[in-house]
Amino acid sequence: MEFKESMKKLKKWFPIVMKYGIFIVALETIILAILRCPYILPFLACDMCPVLDCPSKYYRKPFVAFIVGYVIVFRKDYCSKVCPFGTLNDIIYKVRRMISKKPLKISYELKLILEFLKYVAFLFAILALLYGNPRYYIPIHTSELIDSIKLIYLTAGNTYFARLYLILGALLLGILIPRFWCRYVCPLGTGIQLTKKGIKFTKQQKQQNTCQKCSMCEKND
Ligand code: SF4
Ligand code: SF4
Repeated sequence: MEFKESMKKLKKWFPIVMKYGIFIVALETIILAILRCPYILPFLACDMCPVLDCPSKYYRKPFVAFIVGYVIVFRKDYCSKVCPFGTLNDIIYKVRRMISKKPLKISYELKLILEFLKYVAFLFAILALLYGNPRYYIPIHTSELIDSIKLIYLTAGNTYFARLYLILGALLLGILIPRFWCRYVCPLGTGIQLTKKGIKFTKQQKQQNTCQKCSMCEKND
């Protein structure tokens, strides 16, 4: 009985510990990717990245291998249980819930606009990929985060600031709307969503094609 109880507790706490553990490990990389990543899409060109103090430059491959293994072995949903940026969104909303539990309702029209913007961001990411994920500023080497950010402010162009304000703005909106970034901006999340929808649709089509039209399932209902 005691063993069963311990297993139950382990099952409950293990994914939570993993989720926040992964977040803590990835926090420095998240901060650097937001503030210093010189590419339109972070985490894709880490091997040749000139930002020498970003941990992703050295640990991206083993980290990704670990995450993929964890998702497959423990059958965890990446967005809700693993992604460190998703966890950051959760933490931001949790802070807001401590202040007020009142949910913010958004109109149907605004939802439609935000959904549209999500696909615009997705298309933009695809275009960036097709154009080889361009680098939009030349990082100046410095080991100090604050110094490097000051230098970026002096040297970076509009693209850097557009990306920075988009990320920070979406994170701030996450105080009002849970996981705003995930729901209405993240191109990777949109890609995962579309892939899931595609797999579901293909399965349904396969089921329809193999259906013998015997109506047995209707009788069983
Ligand atoms: S290593 Fe470079 S490309 Fe990769 S996330 Fe860090 S800053 Fe971005
Ligand atoms: S939507 Fe994007 S940021 Fe959010 S959890 Fe999924 S991959 Fe991470």
